[in-house]
Amino acid sequence: MTAEIIYDVVIAGAGPAGMTAAVYTSRARMSTLMVEKGLPGGQMTKTEDIENYPGFETILGPDLSQKMFEHSKKFGAEYVRGEIQQIKDGYPFKTVIVDGKEYKTKSVILATGAEHRHLGVPGEKELSGFGVSYCAVCDGAFFADQELVVVGGGDSAVEEAIFLTRFASKVTIIHRREELRAQKIIQKRAFDNEKIEFVWNHTVEEIVGDGMVSGVLIKDTVTGEITEFPCNGVFIYIGMDPLTDCVKDLGITNENGYVLVDEDMKTSVKGIFSSGDVNEKTLRQVITATGDGSIAAISSQHYVENLEEELKEMNLEV
Ligand code: NAP
Repeated sequence: MTAEIIYDVVIAGAGPAGMTAAVYTSRARMSTLMVEKGLPGGQMTKTEDIENYPGFETILGPDLSQKMFEHSKKFGAEYVRGEIQQIKDGYPFKTVIVDGKEYKTKSVILATGAEHRHLGVPGEKELSGFGVSYCAVCDGAFFADQELVVVGGGDSAVEEAIFLTRFASKVTIIHRREELRAQKIIQKRAFDNEKIEFVWNHTVEEIVGDGMVSGVLIKDTVTGEITEFPCNGVFIYIGMDPLTDCVKDLGITNENGYVLVDEDMKTSVKGIFSSGDVNEKTLRQVITATGDGSIAAISSQHYVENLEEELKEMNLEV
């Protein structure tokens, strides 16, 4: 009978936070398992140009993902593709359940990230993949010389609207207020782009089309008037929701589902650390995710060292 493997650390998620954590933990000779349900890279895989990650003046998101993934395995971290159903606390070991299979570990680093939010209006689900999209990089090229709508006013909405002008004849940003949330430098690029127009103070109430998107019903937030705005595609960028289902029983999240950590990336549960976009924080960027991942890794290393000391004193060496 083979002995059960007990990892020093299981890292939940292989975005920039998780992959950085894996570099640090495996380089510190901790046995490391990284678990990811999608493609390694997280949101980077759906980003065109990244131009604010030092060392790369500009790099394609999928290319940076691939480089980080190769790096994350260089020092011996294992990788498994699967969906984490639950992370269970325990002493001395935690349990991570991946597609029904249990993995035992001394510590956990949560790096599950966040995913795009849905509008929740009629037509959105039905026409998803038929003109409704959440990924300009993936789907933009299908809309050559067509008219598109982007919903939202944050960095993602405005950046992706700019990207979509590579293909579309016109891109209209529909925003529920009269001022964008996006950074000023990104706003300026959009205002300077002749293909981009704005519809202020309107919400999207319905996405319409017979098999393919043909327009959106929009509501004037001032007058309440509803009109139909014709378009061939709708790209929805209205923010993110943290992916914290697997830790919902641990009581480590706030009312919006984001994980609360201290400056060492410690959650309120000993031995469970958290990093990247899944955390409550002000700036969600690749660079802040990698920073978090490195801190979480060092904290987990210290935790495991202390745990091993404790177990030794109890003659429970593992
Ligand atoms: P975000 O900053 O939260 O912006 C979401 C936008 O969608 C806001 O303008 C919001 O309107 C609007 N919105 C939210 N719910 C809505 C609804 N139900 N109906 C209509 N509009 C709705 O999200 P994000 O743009 O995805 O960015 C997420 C994070 O990533 C941010 O921290 C951002 O700075 C960062 N990011 C950075 C870059 C970059 O630096 N290059 C690129 C992309 C993302 P209100 O403004 O009225 O709330």
